[in-house]
Amino acid sequence: MLSKVLIANRGEIACRVIRGCRELGIKSVAIFSEVDRESLHVKLADEAICVGHGSNGDSYLNLANVLMACQISGAEAVHPGYGYFSERANFAVALESLGIKFVGPPTAAIEAMGDKASAKKAAIACDCPVVPGSDGAVPTESDALVIAEKIGYPVLLKAVAGGGGRGIRRVDAPEELAGLWKMAQAEAQASFGSGEILIEKCVVNPRHVEIQIIGDSFGNMIYLGERECSIQNLRHQKLVEEAPYADLPPEVRKRMGECAVRVASSVGYQNAGTVEFLVDSNNDFYFLEMNTRLQVEHPVTEEITGIDLVHLMLQITSGLPLPISQEDVEISGHAIEARITAQDPDKDFAPSTGRITGWRAPGGRGVRMETHCYAGFSVSPFYDPLLAKLIVRGRTREEAVTKLQTALHEFEIEGIASNIPFLRRLVASEGYETGQFDTGFVPRFLAGEAL
Ligand code: ADP
Ligand code: ADP
Ligand code: MG
Repeated sequence: MLSKVLIANRGEIACRVIRGCRELGIKSVAIFSEVDRESLHVKLADEAICVGHGSNGDSYLNLANVLMACQISGAEAVHPGYGYFSERANFAVALESLGIKFVGPPTAAIEAMGDKASAKKAAIACDCPVVPGSDGAVPTESDALVIAEKIGYPVLLKAVAGGGGRGIRRVDAPEELAGLWKMAQAEAQASFGSGEILIEKCVVNPRHVEIQIIGDSFGNMIYLGERECSIQNLRHQKLVEEAPYADLPPEVRKRMGECAVRVASSVGYQNAGTVEFLVDSNNDFYFLEMNTRLQVEHPVTEEITGIDLVHLMLQITSGLPLPISQEDVEISGHAIEARITAQDPDKDFAPSTGRITGWRAPGGRGVRMETHCYAGFSVSPFYDPLLAKLIVRGRTREEAVTKLQTALHEFEIEGIASNIPFLRRLVASEGYETGQFDTGFVPRFLAGEAL
């Protein structure tokens, strides 16, 4: 087993991984920025090293500083969490050259799945259905017009290097294309350092369903069921996720799971990863992309399988084989996660920052909290607005929904605004309660449409 791991991240996910390390007897090293000095992840770790000032570029994304922290600490391996360096092949390569292990897939697998165009190619090669669209990046605006005409409107323009819901534009008619094309390109260039754009058929009001996979270095790979993530904000960012997707026919679940394993295996994948699909109203599914890291919403999978994904990731990096096979995976109960963010629903979800003066977290049976916050902690404007993940578990979806409603009712944060009041309304809506929703649900809810 590894003896010391550095966590190249902050916030709730750093806390999550630090706890996992401690449970396995692994020493943990946190990194932090000056403004994060009081964050819980710094307090929970065995050691902590400052890597810069406030902004991400100065600190958590400062490659030289983070690598130096890895070396100084004597860590044998680095867990990247999600976001930050988690899907950057150059980080894994740099670690390798220092003789430090990366808790994640091999570099070649990160590269193969790193952009949406090559990921789709890998899926097609495995006979996995994909959303109809361009064959890779589209060179010019006039090519875009031709392709869009061929696949039929509406279409989406997507940044090939995109992620986190950014860089996606919907085009409903040819006359809109020129303007949106330029916007999408500029946005992609600014956000991801590459202006490459691909075109995809816009599946109208699909479900977002993703499969968790995990593989070891001995060629064993399994899938751990699906997560339903259709409750997304206006910018395609997930808000509430659940597992399992109760209305998914078992036969479709099996085909999706096998598809995910096939695609991941084809690029030599190891460790934890997620294959994302869109599912239409006929339960036909289409490969969307693969996230080559631990996903924000991984706890709902842990809750219904009883498997600790962070433990498995660390064990696999230690060179151990997967302790279970596909037949051992049992799904039981229903779990839901709500992302609590410092965003003000009364101000168009603008970020809210400042000192948290009061923090009354929910509790009770079947309630799990993942957070780095507490009363007295200051939320800075530099980082992602995620404050906490509230995860609930019940025997059935109905029980889990009731628990989520109760827990959100209990949850009080003072000093800064949060999206809790909005989440309370959302999960009390009939559409949410009955599970009859798709990726267009939140936009319709915000527009005040009857649901
Ligand atoms: P998940 O699919 O795990 O729910 P998200 O898409 O919500 O993940 O992204 C997880 C985190 O990583 C968010 O904080 C998001 O802003 C960040 N993120 C995701 N992809 C990228 C990327 N390509 N570049 C920068 N940040 C990203
Ligand atoms: P990201 O890398 O930003 O996570 P994804 O390709 O995973 O981008 O898409 C994010 C979300 O955008 C999906 O969950 C879905 O809601 C929407 N979306 C993406 N592609 C399509 C599509 N072809 N048709 C309809 N919705 C889509
Ligand atoms: Mg995605």
